Amino acid sequence: MSRKIEVNRDIYIGGKSFNIIAGPCAVESYEQIDEIGRFLHKIGVKILRGGAFKPRTNPDSFQGLGLEGLKMLYDMKQKYGLSIISEIMDPRDIDSSHDYIDIIQIGSRNMQNFSLLKEMGKIDKPVMLKRGMSATIKEWIMAAEYIKIGGNEKIILCERGIRTFEDYTRNTLDLMSVPILKEISDYPVFVDPSHGTGRKELVLPASKAAKTLNADGIIVEIHPEPDKALSDGLQSLNFKEFEKLYKELI
Ligand code: PEP
Ligand code: MN
Repeated sequence: MSRKIEVNRDIYIGGKSFNIIAGPCAVESYEQIDEIGRFLHKIGVKILRGGAFKPRTNPDSFQGLGLEGLKMLYDMKQKYGLSIISEIMDPRDIDSSHDYIDIIQIGSRNMQNFSLLKEMGKIDKPVMLKRGMSATIKEWIMAAEYIKIGGNEKIILCERGIRTFEDYTRNTLDLMSVPILKEISDYPVFVDPSHGTGRKELVLPASKAAKTLNADGIIVEIHPEPDKALSDGLQSLNFKEFEKLYKELI
């Protein structure tokens, strides 16, 4: 069994629980995140994801709302009691972001950003460490070790797919990392079926597979109108699709 990590009072990750985290790739506006927050609260999801600092490949793409986006997420916490997970990319943003986030996400592109990892070791909040897109499992565990030796053992690992020659899917979701990590560590292991496949129609089968493999949870991208999403619309579920997934998995 994986170690149990407290996120907020009565909200845990790991142990025997299977957690479903959901939210948009990026916080786009107050109206958008409020609609999502209300919906997730209504169906019983406890943890809201939402990117405010976005690691975009193209510098001309939407970069996220930054601190303003985090404040909107924090508002969803006040309004709907949702715990918040969001990505930090730059160590200089840690202090100003700290109070708005419950779980700090370290993205795939920063899995081996050792300065950032060392900072994560100093904070007293859970950290979700996503797998680097070309990282081996050993390299990933070593990256987690950077956080751990700094003194923070509240680490959640998240498989989000790796780069292979296969291009039918956005990434190749390496689901065998789940049982392997379960064997060699006691960190909770999550799966991201959204980035792991890049295709909304594969999100449900990937999620079911993750649960069957004893993952501790999944983190799923949703959007009220995926066609209009400013990022990752192709892999985002609409509310109806997500509700179906949620009911099938819980
Ligand atoms: C994300 O979760 O929005 C994200 C950018 O994921 P990754 O770092 O896995 O690409
Ligand atoms: Mn995304």
